[in-house]
Amino acid sequence: MPVTKAAPAPAADTAPVPASERAAAPEGTPAAAAASPYRGPDFDALRRQDPELSGILLAELERQSNGLQLIAAENFTSPAVLAALGSPLANKYAEGYPGARHHGGCELVDLAERIAVERAKALFGAEHANVQPHSGSSAVLAAYAALLRPGDTVLAMALPQGGHLTHGSPANFSGRWFDFVGYGVDRATGLIDYDQVRALAHEHRPKAIVCGSISYPRHPDYAAFREIADEVGAYFIADAAHPLGLIAGGAAPSPVPYADVVCATTHKVLRGPRGGLLLCGADLAGRIDRAVFPFTQGGAQMHAIAAKAVAFGEAATPAFAGYARQVVCNARVLAAALEAEGLTITTGGTDTHMITADVAALGLDGRTARGRCTAAGMVLDTCALPYGTGPPGCTTGVRLGSAALTTQGMGQAEMARIGVLLGGALREDGKVRSEVADLVRRFPPYPAP
Ligand SMILES: *Cc1c(COP(=O)(O)O)cnc(C)c1O
Repeated sequence: MPVTKAAPAPAADTAPVPASERAAAPEGTPAAAAASPYRGPDFDALRRQDPELSGILLAELERQSNGLQLIAAENFTSPAVLAALGSPLANKYAEGYPGARHHGGCELVDLAERIAVERAKALFGAEHANVQPHSGSSAVLAAYAALLRPGDTVLAMALPQGGHLTHGSPANFSGRWFDFVGYGVDRATGLIDYDQVRALAHEHRPKAIVCGSISYPRHPDYAAFREIADEVGAYFIADAAHPLGLIAGGAAPSPVPYADVVCATTHKVLRGPRGGLLLCGADLAGRIDRAVFPFTQGGAQMHAIAAKAVAFGEAATPAFAGYARQVVCNARVLAAALEAEGLTITTGGTDTHMITADVAALGLDGRTARGRCTAAGMVLDTCALPYGTGPPGCTTGVRLGSAALTTQGMGQAEMARIGVLLGGALREDGKVRSEVADLVRRFPPYPAP
């Protein structure tokens, strides 16, 4: 596998995938495009018609290209995924499912959805896939709608410990309509406290147990969750929004053999369009499908479904498996580099694309840290820390991810350098901004053909 010229050669099995190679079309895709008069999104038409908006789009592309995108939930979709998103499939109404639509003219979008479903099933080894959820939150909503009734008790990771809004936030439908009980992580290790999960399950007899987090950097023990759910007769829902791409690439264990339902997003490490995905066994297929349409959604977004099909196709390639491995290698190197800069790394490291860290030892809070890094061209998030010491609403946590950088073709050498640059930015070293610019210039996310 060729290595980006500027980067020193990493170990053979972890070579970064250059951006120019990662979009290779999988074999067997219908070749109609070559003969079509359609040439994809016409950016010049937008520029002529609406300079105000096209200016924002171009400036955003520049912002994404000229900085380091360290937000753990973000990535760069391939030009092929973007083409599907900007395609005329966006025009089609398609309520229902392939072969059973409430509108005419769905024959071709039916083909696209069937391909998306078959690719998702094959990629994740699932008996059933629903590719219609508009987002990760919509997928979780549909999973709850399929399995629960309002007022049911659900056991999930507590929000201050790393749970997502859909895991019981009072500001979200989940907290309003269900009775959530929260589990957390061990104070000393930062790892999920399975004894606590088991004790809470036996005490509260939840109808469902949810595993999944926005900040947990380790692999959950899916077998343990399954066992605990079985002990109390609960459904086991795995919200794999973050690690789905690592699972697809074989770089993280899969919840599919253990969970009743897997909810996910397609736009994080998986590198597809913004959207959701549901996987389940054949026994729950009908309930899951009805929970998506007509219970929680109307017409499917066929352009997004086509783009998901493209992304699943990309994710089934050996190049993607190399990318997934590299994402984890990169996160580990970055975590070690940040530790050397004085940050305290949650759980002492990472198994995934994600790093959460405490900046308190540097005398900073999360917002100040994020502001200093952003000013230097490095975009990251603040995040709640399970046992944070700051006053309420003032976390000293930051969250970073390696997926977007890896997609750009960066490897371990760049990660080590970025750790140093982040340390410099946190100390307000004025030289960092131009060094970041020099680095990113070598890794354009959308290189000219
Ligand atoms: C990102 C995420 C979601 C929601 O995804 P959206 O597309 O933003 O609605 C749900 N659960 C977890 C664990 C997530 O990380």
